[in-house]
Order: sequence, then C-alpha cells, then structure tokens
Amino acid sequence: MQRQLTCETCGWSRTAQFLPWLKAEEHLGQVHQATVDPGGEA
Ligand SMILES: [Zn+2]
Repeated sequence: MQRQLTCETCGWSRTAQFLPWLKAEEHLGQVHQATVDPGGEA
C-alpha cells in the first residue's frame, strides 16, 4: 500500500510505502525547520 504525501506549503510530494507520517515529518523538519505537533495550531 502506497500513500501520496503532499506538502501544501511548498508543493513537495512523494509516495511512501512505509511510515508516510515519518516522511512528512522529515520533510517538515528539513525544509521548513518545523516539527509536527498533532495537537498544535501551528
Ligand atoms: Zn514543504
């Protein structure tokens, strides 16, 4: 099962077969210097 990941901020996208949330978190951390906070507003 593959999932399509898309960053609405910069248009980055990729498919991830495993741990798609980890890929998204990695992208945010590397490109946007942000961390994923599931309960946050940011
Ligand atoms: Zn991005």
